[in-house]
Amino acid sequence: MVPGYHRPAVVKVNLGAIRRNIKNEMKHLATGQKMLAVVKANAYGHGAVEVAKIAIEEGAAGLCVAILDEALQLRHADIVKPILVLGVVSPEYAPIAAANNVSLTIPNLEWLKEVEKYLEKEQLQLKVHIGVDSGMGRIGFNEDEDFIAANKFLQNNDNFYVEGMFAHFASADSADDTYFKHQVEKFAHMRSLLTVKPKWIHVDNTAASIFNKDVPSDCVRFGIGIYGLNPSSNPDSPDLKSSISLEPALSFESELTHVKTIHEGDGVGYGSTFVADQDTIIGTVPVGYADGFIRKFQGFKVKVGDEYCPIVGRICMDQFMVKMPKKMPLGTKVVIISNDPTAPNNIKAAADYVDTIHYEVACLLNDRLPRVYYEK
Ligand SMILES: *Cc1c(COP(=O)(O)O)cnc(C)c1O
Repeated sequence: MVPGYHRPAVVKVNLGAIRRNIKNEMKHLATGQKMLAVVKANAYGHGAVEVAKIAIEEGAAGLCVAILDEALQLRHADIVKPILVLGVVSPEYAPIAAANNVSLTIPNLEWLKEVEKYLEKEQLQLKVHIGVDSGMGRIGFNEDEDFIAANKFLQNNDNFYVEGMFAHFASADSADDTYFKHQVEKFAHMRSLLTVKPKWIHVDNTAASIFNKDVPSDCVRFGIGIYGLNPSSNPDSPDLKSSISLEPALSFESELTHVKTIHEGDGVGYGSTFVADQDTIIGTVPVGYADGFIRKFQGFKVKVGDEYCPIVGRICMDQFMVKMPKKMPLGTKVVIISNDPTAPNNIKAAADYVDTIHYEVACLLNDRLPRVYYEK
C-alpha cells in the first residue's frame, strides 16, 4: 500500500521513549547479560530501522526479526550487528542469509540436513541458533534423540557456526508460574545434552525479564518493552507489575476532514447502524479498516479536540464518523490512540475494546499510515 503522505493521518513514534525503555532494561540486566532487541514486524509497527538504530546506540548486542526479508532490510540500512531470524527460513534461502551475515534458527533436524546441501554447493558458512521447544509448541527440538543427533551433525561441521541456543516462553506474563517452571526445567534438560558450545544461550522475553523471572542466560530477547508496553496484557487479569519503568512510544493521530449536523431519522455509515434521534453533530475522520483500524472499533471513544467522542456507524474502508457534543472546526486534531497510558484511549484500552492484546493493535496499523518520528 502506498503511504498516505497527503492525508492527515499518521502514526507518531517518540524515539525518546524508546531510548529510555531500552536504557532502563539495560540497567536491569544481570551482570554481563546482553540485550537482543526484537524488531520483527517493522518493530511492532514502530519502524524497524529507526528502532534498531536506537537499540544499537543504547548498547544492544544484536537484533531479532521474524523473517529473512526483515533481516535484509536492516542490512540494507547498513546495520552490521548480529541479526537472528526467529522463524523458519526455507532451506533454499539459507545461502542468502549466509551471504548477508544473518543468523538463522534451526527448527529441526531435517532443516539442518537440507540447509547443509545448499551451503556445500556455494561454499558458505551459516550462523545458526538451535531452537528448543521447551513447551511453546511452535518450532525447535522437543525430543532428546533429535537434539543429540543435531549436536552430532553440527560438531566439526564447517558449514555452520553455532552462535546460539534458545527457547521461548508461553506464559511468562502470567501470575501462575507452573507451566513457566516446567519450561525452565525442560530447557535445562536439553541444555545438559549439548555437545556443541553455543556462544549465546537465551530464553527470556520481555515478560520473563521485567517480572523478575530471569533465567540465568547470556541474552534477553527484549521486544514489547522497547515500545513501552507491559506484556501482561490479558484483558481478563490485572497487569503484573513491571520492575522497570515503561513509557509507550506510539500514538495514532488524524484530523477532522468534515463536520456537519444531521437530523432526526438520518443514518450514518453502511447499514445505517446509527440513526439520529435529534439534531446531531457528526465529524468525519479519514481513517478506516484499510489502515488496520478494524471495524470492531465501532463505539470506541477517540479524542477530538478536548472531547472523547464515540465512533458511530460502521467504520468504512477509509473513513469513520464520530458523534460530537459541539461543532469543532475542520482540521481539529483527533487522537485515535494516545501514548499517554492514563488516557482512556491508550493502546491497552483500545486492545481491550476489541478483545485482543496491544501487540496486535500496534501491528495492525499498516504502511498506508506514514510513521512520523520525534525525540522528546
Ligand atoms: C516475539 C518474540 C520475542 C519478544 O517477545 P516480547 O514479549 O515482545 O518481549 C522473543 N522471542 C521470540 C522467539 C519471539 O518470537
